[in-house]
Amino acid sequence: MRIRINKISASICEHPLDDKFVIVSNIGVHRRSRFVLVEIQSSDEITGYGEGATTAIWSGETAETAKSIVENIFAPNLENQYFDHPGEVSSIVNELAVGNPFAKAAVDTAFWDLWARTQCSRVSDLVADRRPIESIPTRASIGVYNIQQTVSIATAFWEAGIRVLKFKVGVPPHDDVARLKAVREELGDDPVFTIDPNGGYSSRDIAVAAIEALLPFNLKFVEQPTPRDRIQMLADVRRRIPVPIIADESIFTKGHLYEALDCDAFDILSVYPGKNGGFTSCLDMVETAKKYGKACVLGSNLETDLGQAAMANLAAGLEAFPVEEIAGDLGSCMYYKDSSVTNPLALSNGRINVPEGIGFGVSPITSEGNLKLKNIC
Ligand SMILES: [Mg+2]
Repeated sequence: MRIRINKISASICEHPLDDKFVIVSNIGVHRRSRFVLVEIQSSDEITGYGEGATTAIWSGETAETAKSIVENIFAPNLENQYFDHPGEVSSIVNELAVGNPFAKAAVDTAFWDLWARTQCSRVSDLVADRRPIESIPTRASIGVYNIQQTVSIATAFWEAGIRVLKFKVGVPPHDDVARLKAVREELGDDPVFTIDPNGGYSSRDIAVAAIEALLPFNLKFVEQPTPRDRIQMLADVRRRIPVPIIADESIFTKGHLYEALDCDAFDILSVYPGKNGGFTSCLDMVETAKKYGKACVLGSNLETDLGQAAMANLAAGLEAFPVEEIAGDLGSCMYYKDSSVTNPLALSNGRINVPEGIGFGVSPITSEGNLKLKNIC
């Protein structure tokens, strides 16, 4: 399917979080999202859309830096060119810039959306190695709040049907033992508990002691206990605790993945287009992880429904995502006051319905109003 890119444009969108669910973690406070929206129009006047969930405290990018690199570096090298596959676009943006994974992801996912729309297909169908599943369980992240607020947020998610609760932990002076204990007492043994210190434990011994103190509350997974750039430390902690490790901040690139595999630092790879530089690179990293016997789970940087639609398409069709056993981060719709798309992702009994439309299946809302897509199918 040969496509000529006519025009690439980038705009900045603000998405306020519901005050109740502001994420407070070891790396800061996520109160308001300021993301970049990329639109790629083909010479056939079909448009694909991609989101870059930019936050400086996560990847060092802002919406402004992403918009600049898309407009001034990527667009001039992609416009008026022909492409047969999204992998070709991914290769070019990777040659043009190091880092900037969320800016690259916005362009790469927009082209995947365009490429699939041009074929009147869903992306999940185009990449699947299994029959794409229709709905995916989501977990919910609970920021670091006092005991009473932690119980209140956990209860709200539980009552919304969420069965996996991911506690942000490791932010002094909050007492994580008391927080998790209180939620267990309130909700009983049924909720699945996971923790995510976001790299906040600064040494092996600190990490092991903190995790051991929380073991009585039945942790299913521990996510990124050690600093992002200390992969060997992550491997060492993994050998000392009885709970599987999810690697998140430590693995942005394929090189990070190989280094983590070399020292067997993790059990499950947290992967999603923004952090890992695009949908194309996710497919590559998921395939590699699978080859080494590792499972994958969707992480997120609070993508809106636009970014989450791409993530849902990724996990729906790939065997490497055992979504019933390991729930991913697909519940952003609970955190935002409004949806970013005209057909919001539906949350029902703790599960997100994978969009059914062509491309990634959603259409963004912009300040100009709803973008109605040309229906060519
Ligand atoms: Mg994480």
